[in-house]
Amino acid sequence: MAHAFNNALEQLATAAHYTEIHQAVLARLQKPERVIQHSLPIVMDDGTTQVFDAYRVQYNNARGPFKGGVRFHQNVDLNEVKALSFWMAIKTAVVNIPLGGGKGGVVVDPKQLSRAELERVSRAYARAFAPYIGPMQDVPAPDVNTNAQVMAWMMDEYEQVVGHSAPGVVTGKPLELGGSEGRGAATAQGGFYVLQELLQHVGKQANNTSVAIQGFGNAGMHMAQLLETAGYRIAAVSDSGGGVAAADNASLVVADVIQHKNKTGSVVAAPSTTDISSEELLELPVDVLVPAALENQITDTNADRIKASIILELANGPTTPQADVVLHKKGVIVVPDVLANAGGVTVSYFEWVQNQHGYYWSEAEVLDRLLPIMVDAFSDVWNITKTDGVNMRTAAFVLAVSRLEAAMQSRG
Ligand code: GLU
Repeated sequence: MAHAFNNALEQLATAAHYTEIHQAVLARLQKPERVIQHSLPIVMDDGTTQVFDAYRVQYNNARGPFKGGVRFHQNVDLNEVKALSFWMAIKTAVVNIPLGGGKGGVVVDPKQLSRAELERVSRAYARAFAPYIGPMQDVPAPDVNTNAQVMAWMMDEYEQVVGHSAPGVVTGKPLELGGSEGRGAATAQGGFYVLQELLQHVGKQANNTSVAIQGFGNAGMHMAQLLETAGYRIAAVSDSGGGVAAADNASLVVADVIQHKNKTGSVVAAPSTTDISSEELLELPVDVLVPAALENQITDTNADRIKASIILELANGPTTPQADVVLHKKGVIVVPDVLANAGGVTVSYFEWVQNQHGYYWSEAEVLDRLLPIMVDAFSDVWNITKTDGVNMRTAAFVLAVSRLEAAMQSRG
């Protein structure tokens, strides 16, 4: 992922080309405010000690406390975390919630850890970064390979360090510890609302629309469920082990695929499916492609072979700037990550609000508040594509940068 941050800066430069950004604002947006790095020494179950590299990048807090997930993955590096934190700052501005952008990561393959080791890594992270995080400072959340249980350990460790209750220090917690209804499915739910809006604008219907989803973690799996329920044809899904496709014109039975993954650890060889590779999945003749895994999946080497007419980015950074150019020329609509997956951080924002008040909303209330935010963000971005003649990513950046600029200017 050596180029993720360069890609992010290139996206910013493209936006700067279409809108006037004050020089000082642009200069500040090209660098994170703070980069914190820690070594986490962890006693493993066999008694040996392993030391894991851990990061937190606090990109921008002009609009509110830094906000963004923590990723546990063997390929995490500082360059990637910087890019992800920058995209969080853009994302929170696109949906206009009063939060900034940050991101964290630990270089570790959690699949190699026991549950006790995973807990020790999670607690060590919270302890090491405790001086820099907090409900009014920087609020971590789940990301790739981290979940509600990891957030519970982090919150508990943080509360032990500071000596008082502080549920708003992380979001994506279990319900019993102050998590929000609807947070688990929120990334997919927000993407689903955006896709429904887009289909209306381009005159397509769910029951005539086929979808392939790369990635079957929290975002991809929930998306498959939502789309299946709404009548879309789920042509294929994949995870880090490989992919599976339905027979021509058939749809996968999502519950069966989930059951198979729970049993075997992967979607591969789920009943009544054909195996395909994750790369093949990207090039299937479907209407909508949903990358929901990692960065740099759609690049200049495969962009011209993409057959989908819509790409909905539930992953962060799945499309490179070079691929964006190719896709735009081909007329493919790319709904960018900073809009398509912003439902996750939006419900994180709701969770944080509920934590500040100690007063909790029903799932229906959460969804009622999420829908207009996603619809407004979509139409704000869509309108800019029309007025400025740019693709949706550039439009989203133009919108976000104008909001960031307003906040930075008001502070003086
Ligand atoms: N990790 C998610 C993202 O990339 C959610 C971040 C959050 O809820 O703070 O948007």
